[in-house]
Amino acid sequence: NKQVIFRDYVTGFPKESDMHVTSGTIRLEVPEGSNSVLVKNLYLSCDPYMRGRMNPSTDAGYIGSFTPGSPINGYGVAKVLDSGHTNFKKGDLVWGITGWEEYSLITAPEALFKIQHTDVPLSYYTGILGMPGMTAYAGFYEICSPKKGENVFISAASGAVGQLVGQFAKLLGCYVVGSAGSKDKVDLLKEKFGFDEAFNYKEEPDLAAALKRYFPGGIDIYFENVGGKMLDAVLLNMRVHCRIAACGMISQYNLEKPEGVHNLTNVILRQARIEGFLAPNYYHKYPQLLELVLPYIREGKITYVEDKTEGIESGPAALVGLFRGRNVGKQVVVVARE
Ligand code: NDP
Repeated sequence: NKQVIFRDYVTGFPKESDMHVTSGTIRLEVPEGSNSVLVKNLYLSCDPYMRGRMNPSTDAGYIGSFTPGSPINGYGVAKVLDSGHTNFKKGDLVWGITGWEEYSLITAPEALFKIQHTDVPLSYYTGILGMPGMTAYAGFYEICSPKKGENVFISAASGAVGQLVGQFAKLLGCYVVGSAGSKDKVDLLKEKFGFDEAFNYKEEPDLAAALKRYFPGGIDIYFENVGGKMLDAVLLNMRVHCRIAACGMISQYNLEKPEGVHNLTNVILRQARIEGFLAPNYYHKYPQLLELVLPYIREGKITYVEDKTEGIESGPAALVGLFRGRNVGKQVVVVARE
């Protein structure tokens, strides 16, 4: 059973060498009398929140740190090989928190979601039909209170969450602009996801001026994925009653001292609302996400771009690549294809 082991807590940017792959053994059976399930992991999800789990104490608070010397874990898609739990049987496909290893014994299987729809790619349950999908759904519809015709700006727009938020906003009839960190990603936003405009933030010396160019009348909704300088620039370009969904601030995760935000006074002047949210607190709405998104996927009205690496050995590089913008779309590690 190959496993990705977390070496030790991290300061600054995480490196591939902060993890290593070992090979151990596992009994491919649930122990007698246990209500665990034994799964074969198929797809593992690389997510930015995992950086917080590499700190000795997580500021996220709701999910613990990784344990040095032990395998890391995170969201994934898996197949049940053996089950001691009445809700699951051999052959079931599930998504939820699993180990970064080929096979995992899951001791609290109640938290797993059973996969019912298999006419779409299974790997989508790490993305559009999994945690990032719930993030986009809750963040956009619940936090942003969007209305047709509003001006929407999304940062890290080509990623797992951003690409979906942008397409939700377009389907609602909003004017949508995204920022991303390369020309290829900017092209993807405009050509594949149908954003009205997109720009490479790395090539804009003055972010506030760039936003003014795309939003001469101001921004109604900002879906915040990056924080730092981008947030400050948005605060200078808000319309009255602007809403900011504070989803993530990836530009801050590897800094020992987070950058300051300077333009908060504008929240008062523009009577804006900034609201943070955590996707897992909306999992009770998962059926609504499926109901909304599955038809769109089947009809080709929403597309979802994934960046897949092959083999569990590719996991550490794929995970740390998120913080350098190496992923184009949702980063997935393929452990096995059933
Ligand atoms: P992505 O697929 O977007 O991958 C991360 C991307 O972030 C990179 O590809 C890179 O894109 C961008 N990035 C990396 N470093 C920086 C930086 N210093 N400044 C600006 N951009 C940077 O990730 P997700 O879609 O999974 O996550 C997006 C955000 O949503 C993250 O902040 C994450 O923490 C947050 N999140 C929050 C959840 C919640 O419950 N609140 C749940 C899930 C995600 P580029 O090349 O464009 O720079």
